[in-house]
Amino acid sequence: MPALTSQTTTTAPPASGTPRDIRNFIGGDFVDGVAGFDKIDPVDGAVIGRVHEAGRHEVDRAVAAARAAFDGPWGRMSVGDRATLLRRIADAIERRFDDLVAAEVGDTGKPETLARDLDVARAAMNFRSFADTVASTGLDSFLTELADGRRALNYAIRKPLGVVAIIVPWNLPLLLLTWKLAPALASGNTVVIKPSEETPSSATLLAEILSEAGVPDGVVNVVHGFGEDSAGAFLTGHPGIDGVTFTGETSTGSAIMRAVAPRVRPVSFELGGKNAAVVFADADLDAAIAGLARSTYLNTGQVCLCTERIYVERPIFDEMAAGLAEQARRLRLGRPENPATTTGPLISQAHRAKVLSYFDLAREEGATVLAGGGVPTLGDGLDGGSWIEPTLWSGLDNSNRAVREEVFGPVAAIIPFDTEAEAIALANDTDYGLAAVTWTSDLTRGHRVAQRMRTGMSWVNTWYLRDLRSPFGGMGLSGIGREGGHHSLEFYTEPTNVCVQL
Ligand code: NAD
Repeated sequence: MPALTSQTTTTAPPASGTPRDIRNFIGGDFVDGVAGFDKIDPVDGAVIGRVHEAGRHEVDRAVAAARAAFDGPWGRMSVGDRATLLRRIADAIERRFDDLVAAEVGDTGKPETLARDLDVARAAMNFRSFADTVASTGLDSFLTELADGRRALNYAIRKPLGVVAIIVPWNLPLLLLTWKLAPALASGNTVVIKPSEETPSSATLLAEILSEAGVPDGVVNVVHGFGEDSAGAFLTGHPGIDGVTFTGETSTGSAIMRAVAPRVRPVSFELGGKNAAVVFADADLDAAIAGLARSTYLNTGQVCLCTERIYVERPIFDEMAAGLAEQARRLRLGRPENPATTTGPLISQAHRAKVLSYFDLAREEGATVLAGGGVPTLGDGLDGGSWIEPTLWSGLDNSNRAVREEVFGPVAAIIPFDTEAEAIALANDTDYGLAAVTWTSDLTRGHRVAQRMRTGMSWVNTWYLRDLRSPFGGMGLSGIGREGGHHSLEFYTEPTNVCVQL
């Protein structure tokens, strides 16, 4: 690709069959990279885009643009004006709803219905929710009275961190990006975004939408590329970054932590999981089976919150296993635009190879495959895609690697238990700690078990029901910190205590 040039461009879908150019967005301009790589459609393996990879120079330019914007009028904008701008962004997202759905579906292959109902709808909601949160957050102030009669007024003001690096994965690209971008902007920061190399399109389109909505140049910058030895590492190692918010794999979180350690920058990490569900014999079985089918297979199992371990009270084990296997077999794999499609492909051939290696491992560890277990034959021109069968294993236990390590695909192990204490112990027997689900019709037990789960989120008789004001994040290997409502504002700002002797 040519060296750095500057031009405005659009990420609108090209004429059918022509790969589109996906550029970096720096200081209000679309900018070429130093190299390029292909974006492959996971549905059929076709090349659908050419991504401009940012080098050190482009990352430097992006950080400098964010710093200049932070030091300019953006840094002095009132909270009320920022809240108004966030609401304008939500409106602009809704105006470009179909384009964003097309970008997200093109990159991930997920069903259009899912992209509409979850990803893009949540992107608009993220901006509205943080507009409300920031507009309603007040100051903490109090009077201090000392024994010698002196009195002092104490108050705290919260200041933006400055230039924030936002690094996000490919599974819910726009949703997870806006989940971080909305509170970062609401708090007055400027940002440099590094989307996943697998899903560069929606971030690029969003940059265009933000510009149209009135976000000043330099406030939001997007650099494309990979992690190690590429845009991701150049960004996290950059001395001009004041904080990093990251969603992705635990091992990447460790690498980012090492990168920022010399300059001791704050981090917020939403990492991997190996989430458990516990089903008691008194549960509404139909609701539990439907709920587990959703929590195991939504987005082809590629949601950090997805269930990969299902513990079932022994008297209902066979019925649950048969019911869930039936649900897995009923899922409809197919083209995203087909409204009957429930399940898309995995994100890439590389990710499918990883998931299939766990299918092999589970068999070696003695699993009985109750549903799926391999690669489907779909025809219809889809054989070049990264398709995989929704799968269910029994016959494993917590000593197996397939039950301990995150697969991040449409698969769970179903395991019996006999007592409530055993169920809690099994669910908590993991290095991760992201999300848990309890299915029971005894709500007292539901509260009791939910509270004893060593996880950041603990649902009862539902899954992925989110109020955006509630804290979101994980324990153990699943992350550091919480985002959501005022928790996000705490990460994206730093308090200064002012003490005035009266
Ligand atoms: P990943 O860690 O491989 O990549 C995530 C992002 O980090 C990408 O943009 C990537 O380019 C970048 N990156 C990789 N190495 C880097 C480095 N050394 N320095 C800087 N940036 C680097 O994750 P993924 O495969 O894209 O996503 C799947 C993972 O994300 C799963 O583990 C899943 O559980 C996790 N996830 C967690 C949550 C949560 O909220 N806890 C949500 C979604 C996904």
